[in-house]
This record gives sequence, C-alpha cells and structure tokens, in this order.
Amino acid sequence: MICSYCNAEIPDNALHCPNCGAPMDSVTQQLADLQRLQTRALETTDEKAASIKPLKPLKPVQHTHEVATRSHKILMTVAVVLFICIVLVLLLSLF
Ligand SMILES: [Zn+2]
Repeated sequence: MICSYCNAEIPDNALHCPNCGAPMDSVTQQLADLQRLQTRALETTDEKAASIKPLKPLKPVQHTHEVATRSHKILMTVAVVLFICIVLVLLLSLF
C-alpha cells in the first residue's frame, strides 16, 4: 500500500510508515480504536464494559485480555503484600 502522508510504498502489514513513521490509517486506526476501547473497558465497571458491544468479533479477545490483566493485577498485589511482609519480618528481626 501507499502511505497517505508521504506516498512512500509500505508493506501491507506495516503498522507505521517506515519512511515518515505515520500510523497506517485503515489498520492502525482500527487497532488504536480497539486499544482505546479496551483501556476504557478495563477502567470502567463490567456494566459499562458490557455496553461496548459493537465490536462483536473482537469481544473474545477483549475478554481474555481483561481476565489476563486482572489476574496480573492480583499477582502484583500478592507480590507487593509478600514483599511488605518480608520487609516487616526483617525489620522485626533486627530488634
Ligand atoms: Zn509515510
């Protein structure tokens, strides 16, 4: 395809123009919109996330991504709590 910004020839699967770095409109715009929707869905409640239904084919991806992020957050929380416990034990053992 042709870059709409600098008219350079770009591979069809390129996300950005290698010549001018501009994002590729058709694909990248959709991806950017999807990412924005996903971020919004993660930030809002499940109720609001469920209301974002127009992207039906992409919903399963959205869902797994959401679940993965949630379990990641839980893991991070557990790691932080464990770290605090270890620090507390070390501090107590000093006295
Ligand atoms: Zn370009």
